[in-house]
Amino acid sequence: MTRDRARKRAARALRHNVGGSYSAAHWALTDPKQARAADIHRRLANALRAFGWPVETDILPELGEYRCYSGPATLAIETEQQEWHPLSANLILSAHAPLMHEAPDELWAYADADQPIANLVSWANQAIAQGRRQALSATPGNHTECDICGDHYPQTHLLGVSDSAEDQQGGFFSFCPSCMFDTDIGKRWRPEILSHHLDELLYDQFAAPAGWNAIIALFACAAAPDWRRDLQALWHGNGILPLPATHWSTPEQLWLWLPEASTRPAALRHLGCGASLGAVMNAIDQAFPAARQQATHRLNREWAENAQEWDGPPDIDPITFLNHIWPASIAYLISFHTQSQERAEHRSPWHLWHSLELDLGRFDTMGRSDDDLSLEATLRHSIDVLASLLKIDVS
Ligand SMILES: [Zn+2]
Repeated sequence: MTRDRARKRAARALRHNVGGSYSAAHWALTDPKQARAADIHRRLANALRAFGWPVETDILPELGEYRCYSGPATLAIETEQQEWHPLSANLILSAHAPLMHEAPDELWAYADADQPIANLVSWANQAIAQGRRQALSATPGNHTECDICGDHYPQTHLLGVSDSAEDQQGGFFSFCPSCMFDTDIGKRWRPEILSHHLDELLYDQFAAPAGWNAIIALFACAAAPDWRRDLQALWHGNGILPLPATHWSTPEQLWLWLPEASTRPAALRHLGCGASLGAVMNAIDQAFPAARQQATHRLNREWAENAQEWDGPPDIDPITFLNHIWPASIAYLISFHTQSQERAEHRSPWHLWHSLELDLGRFDTMGRSDDDLSLEATLRHSIDVLASLLKIDVS
């Protein structure tokens, strides 16, 4: 099976270099088996979106595969005959991860695709959930210490920054998602480089810590709406050729891992093993329609108590700013709650509050100038209110 996938990867690379063709599109529309696969592919993508998953699809098949990409996994309707495959007479639905084809498989499962779409959605959810559990338990060696909190992770699950802002040839701090905004990390990271490293990490590592998705959400929400376009130019300026992921411009399309259903807040129990940030936010807003107002009330009270010290009221209405940051607050709460369950041997990830140093000055390069608002206070009050409503321990 592994050798066959290696062959397919090589063929995919060749096809990628050559590009798609009109004949491929024509063939896909006139061959009955291909037409059936295209129909299942379209209906499956729509059903996954209705299930709350972020989904991107390829328009044309590659090597007989009709693919869609949801969060950390690729789902494909396969039409090629495979000698090794017991279902080779039928269409096959396969799931594999990570997204990076060249990386070793951490998830590889398949099922008969000729069955009701609801069954395929259920199968995909179970396959990805089980694959995640196995990948977490099989992750080779938690040998690398986070240089800030001391928890151990696989080295590939941590990010690093130079330990000297001036000397880029110096050593590196390795840090986990909880320590992303620690005072000791300082201003060593640059958003445009960090964003690339985050995309790479999640593209390569199926068992990556859930908390990294919260970091992406905060950056994407704090940045100007057109930041992804600027990011693309910045990446190219630094010799980085891939395109930034779409979550940098549409954070509601970001995948969040959810905790096991048995320990999950009731408002999220209808969702799968993961969901888009938009789906999670809609579910919480519907279950707790007064939550934003409660958080704004707390924020206004803090502003009133500290008005003199903080040199007057903010330029932007706090509810406007809170609405910008609300998706990130939800991503923080849910992602770090999931991480605390997936990595129970670690300290509570909420130790992040002890050394958090957030201010919008750090986001200057991301196109925002309203740096007199308290990002940290907005995040804290929003998470406190949400944690109380959802009964999640953030201590
Ligand atoms: Zn840490």
